[in-house]
Amino acid sequence: MEEIQKKISQLSNELNEHNHLYYIEDAPVITDFKFDQMLSELQDLEKQYPQFKDPNSPTQRVGGGVTKFFDTIEHRYPMYSLSNTYSKDELVQWETRIRKILGVDTEICYTCELKFDGASISLTYENGALVQALTRGDGVQGDAITTNVKTINSIPLKLKGNYPKFFEIRGEIILPWMGFHKMNEKRAELGEPLYSNPRNTASGSLKLQDSSLVAERPLICFLYALAADQLMIDSQFEALKKAREWGFKVPDSASLAHSIDEVFEFITEWDEKRKSLPYEIDGIVIKVNQFNQQNKLGFTAKAPRWAMAYKYQAQQASTVLLEVQYQVGRTGAITPVAILKPVLISGTIVKRASLHNQDQIEKLGLRIGDTVFVEKGGEIIPKIIGIDHDKRASFKEEISFISNCPECKYPLTREVGEVQHYCKNEIACPPQQIGKIQHFIGRKAMDIEGLGGETVSLLFHEGLLSNIADLYRLKKEKILPLERMAEKSVNNLFEGIEKSKNKPFSKVLFGLGIRYVGETVAKRLAKAFGSMNALMGATAEAMTETEEIGGRIAESVVKYFSKSSNIEVIKVLSSSGLQMEEAQNLNKPHSIFKGKKFVVSGVFEHYSREGIKSEIESFGGIIISSVSSKTNFLVAGDGTGPSKKTKAIDLKIPILNEKEFLNLKEQGI
Ligand code: AMP
Ligand code: ZN
Repeated sequence: MEEIQKKISQLSNELNEHNHLYYIEDAPVITDFKFDQMLSELQDLEKQYPQFKDPNSPTQRVGGGVTKFFDTIEHRYPMYSLSNTYSKDELVQWETRIRKILGVDTEICYTCELKFDGASISLTYENGALVQALTRGDGVQGDAITTNVKTINSIPLKLKGNYPKFFEIRGEIILPWMGFHKMNEKRAELGEPLYSNPRNTASGSLKLQDSSLVAERPLICFLYALAADQLMIDSQFEALKKAREWGFKVPDSASLAHSIDEVFEFITEWDEKRKSLPYEIDGIVIKVNQFNQQNKLGFTAKAPRWAMAYKYQAQQASTVLLEVQYQVGRTGAITPVAILKPVLISGTIVKRASLHNQDQIEKLGLRIGDTVFVEKGGEIIPKIIGIDHDKRASFKEEISFISNCPECKYPLTREVGEVQHYCKNEIACPPQQIGKIQHFIGRKAMDIEGLGGETVSLLFHEGLLSNIADLYRLKKEKILPLERMAEKSVNNLFEGIEKSKNKPFSKVLFGLGIRYVGETVAKRLAKAFGSMNALMGATAEAMTETEEIGGRIAESVVKYFSKSSNIEVIKVLSSSGLQMEEAQNLNKPHSIFKGKKFVVSGVFEHYSREGIKSEIESFGGIIISSVSSKTNFLVAGDGTGPSKKTKAIDLKIPILNEKEFLNLKEQGI
């Protein structure tokens, strides 16, 4: 027993250290694969011996805990906001003000830090372990989001070095551009409305109930301030250095300025450099460096007197909100769009801005005819950031969110916990119908050359095409008379449609546009079930046995197949000759593992883990993630967790080592 406890703590320590090397130092010394393997070993041990599990174990990173309600808790040290300015003159005035308090000739140094644009967070550490994470809230009280925060890899769960017994540390949780764009690419693929900007996405992520969803988001956390009853530290710059030593991610962009002129230099330097940062900043924070000077200066009701945020001018303009229009996406999601009096912002004419959803309109308190401030930053769609209340005439029309679909008049629904309204009239709402067909013919799905989005729209409006099945029922003589449809392009179109019949089953499945079924999920499902018929007959439970397929996806697939209109479409696709089975299921020289379910664990000599999995799949086998009574084989490499093995033994499932697996492959089952 003691052995096991020791093993658990040794694995935890090693994993914490590797995590630090990877996420803080950017200098990993082991492969991701090795890391995953150690992590899964620890997970297995913790499952088997829960009595030894540390609440700050590295396994917390993957999430899993669900928080239904976030407790509101008072901050031990209030979280103030920052006074801010856009002008260098005001910075000079600020210095004059503080000199009045500190003495005209006193030497003052400043730390200059980047102002990260994300969600602020306060972390409490007791004896070197993270015990609580609070949002800023109103500055006095915040929400406890500890479980979610533990999934953020750059936040240490255990500290290093010589840290105080009890302290709080403040920082900003941000979503770097790359992660943000990736998330949006996925959203686009699934036909979901896009996230508006990294800041909102970061703060929204922290309030997700399911922490494993938070774990999937590439959030990072930069730390910038310590708070404690007593710190054996004299200055902000030193505090940053110490925090770094204790294992926190503190960017080294912070710099010590010895005069306000040096502060200006820093500001100018970063005005240029910020454009190539991998994340967004909205300014610079200037802090009086010495803590004894900070203490003398103290706080106003809202903000410290010893700090100032210098904000970079975002490209902004004011214009008039003419009306709000509503767009209907492929999935029926409704996005309100602000129609603006055209205005020039950083070289482009802006006429529209996304309003995202009803909550956003209400938060802004928008009314038609309002003068609004519009901002255009980076690569994001322009957004309305506020209203010029001085310019509001007394009777402005309020915006009442529509209750019926603007295209088909179907009543809209907004489900509890969702921000978006949906038109659920999938089969007879024109933009949804057109969007679904456009998705089906798209490059990543059936890739039908000779047919573009515009033509789909034309054929739809001519009544020749109302769903994807109709593509295979088109008649040349009906299309030729249409304007813009010359013989040659019609021939191309039919050739493209014909070719699509050879596209693999996984593409057909992706093309159906089932909610949450993106390209990768479609491939996984196609491989695991092998055919449309098998998938249609599968329960949600059976689907979740497949790697990467969670309950939400499985239920969505089951729901899709429960609609008779969808079944009709699939029947037509099938009788038109589309691929409804995985290729290796068809001609079977290589189907020695057909339908057999494998769990693969551990490391192998001749294969990478992905390699062995894809080989099993190429022989018709199915990879599942955990051992159950339906498993046929456990292929166990070095370091396979004991719990997997025990379970396999209990259930009398053959356990194969690498050599035995190779034999099985040679000889067949
Ligand atoms: P504001 O929200 O404009 O009042 O600005 C204050 C916020 O800036 C704080 O609550 C922090 O979340 C954020 N912030 C970002 N970077 C820093 C930094 N380096 N130092 C202090 N605050 C920062
Ligand atoms: Zn509709």
